[in-house]
Amino acid sequence: MREKVEMEKIGLHLGYPTCCVDMFLRNCHIDFWWERYAKDHWAIGTGYIPCPFCAQRNREEVESGIRLMRKHQSPWPEVDFTLLSKELSLGPNNA
Ligand SMILES: [Zn+2]
Repeated sequence: MREKVEMEKIGLHLGYPTCCVDMFLRNCHIDFWWERYAKDHWAIGTGYIPCPFCAQRNREEVESGIRLMRKHQSPWPEVDFTLLSKELSLGPNNA
């Protein structure tokens, strides 16, 4: 698991809403807590983990927000970790 400060940097760089990044950081010991409540949720498999509020929001609205805020060069929902490490000058992923 990465350091919280790195996780936060990554989440924001990928364009995820701050409320979701905050929630993820607070709950990062509970992996994919929300999948238990929404097994068919659109965000599953994207790497993005919505907070309970955003999990209820309209998909297009959340995705357009992510696209708008996104600094990562791979288009949503793709994440290129090699590129991401370069963009953020991260250390090796020991997760
Ligand atoms: Zn949220």
